[in-house]
Amino acid sequence: MKPSYIRVIIDRAIHRELDYAVPETLAERVGIGTRVRVPFRDRSALATVVATLDHSDAKGIRPIEAIIGEGPALSGPLLELARWIGAYYCCPLETVMRSLLPQVIRKAEIGWKKQLFVRPARKIEDEELDKLKKRAPRQAELLEAISKLDSPILASELLRKTSLDNQTLRALSKRGLIELREEAVERDPHGDEQFLETANLELNAEQANALEQVSNAVASPENARPILLHGVTGSGKTEIYLQAIAVALKHGRSAIVLVPEKSITPQTVERFKGRFASTPDTVAVLHSHLSQGERHDEWHKINSGRARIVIGARSAVFAPLKNLGLIIVDEEHETTYKQEEAPRYHARDVAVVRAKIEKCAVVLGSATPSLESYHNAITEKYKLATLTQRVDGQQMPLMRIVDLRQERRKGKIAPILSEKLSQAISDRLEKREQTILFLNRRGFSTSLLCSNCGEARDCPNCSVALTFHRHLARLSCHLCGHTAAVPKKCPACGQDALIYAGFGTEKVEATVTQFFPKAVVRRMDADSMTRKEAYRETLRNFRTGKIDILVGTQMIAKGLHFPNVTLVGIINADLSLHMPDFRAGERTFQLLTQVAGRAGRGERTGEVFVQTYTPFSPSIQFARHHDFAGYFQQELEFRERCDFPPFKHAVLITVRSAHEGRAKLSAETLVRRLKENLGAEFTLGDAMPAPLQKLQGQFRFHILLRGGAIMRLSRLVRETLDKLPFPEDVAVAVDVDPYQLL
Ligand SMILES: [Zn+2]
Ligand SMILES: [Zn+2]
Repeated sequence: MKPSYIRVIIDRAIHRELDYAVPETLAERVGIGTRVRVPFRDRSALATVVATLDHSDAKGIRPIEAIIGEGPALSGPLLELARWIGAYYCCPLETVMRSLLPQVIRKAEIGWKKQLFVRPARKIEDEELDKLKKRAPRQAELLEAISKLDSPILASELLRKTSLDNQTLRALSKRGLIELREEAVERDPHGDEQFLETANLELNAEQANALEQVSNAVASPENARPILLHGVTGSGKTEIYLQAIAVALKHGRSAIVLVPEKSITPQTVERFKGRFASTPDTVAVLHSHLSQGERHDEWHKINSGRARIVIGARSAVFAPLKNLGLIIVDEEHETTYKQEEAPRYHARDVAVVRAKIEKCAVVLGSATPSLESYHNAITEKYKLATLTQRVDGQQMPLMRIVDLRQERRKGKIAPILSEKLSQAISDRLEKREQTILFLNRRGFSTSLLCSNCGEARDCPNCSVALTFHRHLARLSCHLCGHTAAVPKKCPACGQDALIYAGFGTEKVEATVTQFFPKAVVRRMDADSMTRKEAYRETLRNFRTGKIDILVGTQMIAKGLHFPNVTLVGIINADLSLHMPDFRAGERTFQLLTQVAGRAGRGERTGEVFVQTYTPFSPSIQFARHHDFAGYFQQELEFRERCDFPPFKHAVLITVRSAHEGRAKLSAETLVRRLKENLGAEFTLGDAMPAPLQKLQGQFRFHILLRGGAIMRLSRLVRETLDKLPFPEDVAVAVDVDPYQLL
């Protein structure tokens, strides 16, 4: 049925839906999810169709101007998902759309890449060719080459092969002997790579059991619960994913695999592309390194149904696959699944909701599940599948705790390498085995202090100390990127008394090089790996044994598999433990477990040294004994006692302004209004200066709300905000289920 009217949401933040008329000529091509251009006030705007109507009561209704792109960009289920995200995360629908549709599709400014192809126009007789040889030998040469073709060839490729020029080609075309045609070619980010088809690996009993659970859920998703796949590092989760995807394809359905952005390595792509190599277009990859053109083509490959498996980071949860059968969220505990700008959605939670809407199976996999998912599993909202064995039959690494307090008593100040750890390193060097040293902090020294007046060099825009980077010979702010020269004397008191305090990966590298002058030491962090090539090269050299010791940040904590690494040193386990964040303990536990998983994945058992000033903290002790259940139990008790997630939802409101007084006043006014509007079922804190009080020149205040009924809470917050006029230079951000509490 052709619609007479449509309801749209415009790409701009106007917080409401508008009706337009559809001209007869366009009616055929308009439906839910179509992108259109409409007149809006005195200009044009892009919009998405959210409903088709027989009539509209709106006044002064105007017709749409044009249809953008090919076919609908959004399916009904995805639109339903968008509405859920808007309601849950307290966010206008047009903002949700910004994440749901890639910019290149929304704006439709980039289209297909067209290239010129050549083919013979008709059969060429030998006689004709002989004649041409006399008059125009070069044209004849080219024509001869073309007449031998089985299929059309790229003009550029033909000219390169024959060393002839474009003019000759055009002349043949003018004579009507050949045909030139522009055709769309696909920009495939992995088009120049060869993938060898791989066969299924044999599964052990635990894996087979897990696969059976997933297969059952794929076959009858109506009554299936989400599955939490809790498997220790190296337990072969990916193989289960691959075989489960094959099951989904066999049922004629499609699959999404979400992985954290940093885990989309060439190895990951190869694993998925390789398994389905017999049908090369089946796997599409979405990640942040794609060019706009590649993103355009991959998206269309998915939307048209040619690609049926999508591997991607956070926003791939919105991949426009039809007939979805399975969504996999690997490393579901990863906080990068949470988007830190509006819409502040969590891709794992969105995946579970999309699975419910599309009636498909969903698997959340992790070696260290989030407390939220684990709680859902033990309360039987989710099904739990457990893998306790490593596929190579390896033992879990031995964890040794090094008490830095004792090291300090021995007279060393803030040791980077304890005696025990450096002993272990030299032992590995002797045996020609490899070591990974982990520290979650970049730079050389973390602050520059005056020993005379105590003044630290703080960032002028943020309330943090500037970090000294030796290779740059400058101070830099890790939050806003501000850099400054290193002063010779204290700018506050004028004394020559500046000292460097604290340390980052750059200093660890320097110290290790000093201790072990013969070892090859490399560093891997955001400073040393500014080029993608550098990252690959370092990994390659480490894998082939050209590097003895790799020093790095969380960049090296995940998913890397190096059989010859038998030692992992965690330089300071306390860094994440003392953050003002109720998840600090959980993050430390996850980090220790993940980093430890890098050790001993070959034939030799690994060893992990954890350096800490708090050796008896539960996160460290439970991680040491690989005791997940024990850790979760005590952490859940703590969360329940304090009304923290997963027992209550949290909503964090940040009010900020370059003007401190206005930010504070606005936050206090907001708290008063919220008190009037929220029922007693919700807990509301006072407006407090944020732990990171100043960021990028803005003063920040926090309001923390908690409650059980999150949809209701979100709605009340939205209603309160809509009625409250804030000064122009005050910005308010609402974060539902926040992960960033600074
Ligand atoms: Zn001073
Ligand atoms: Zn700064």
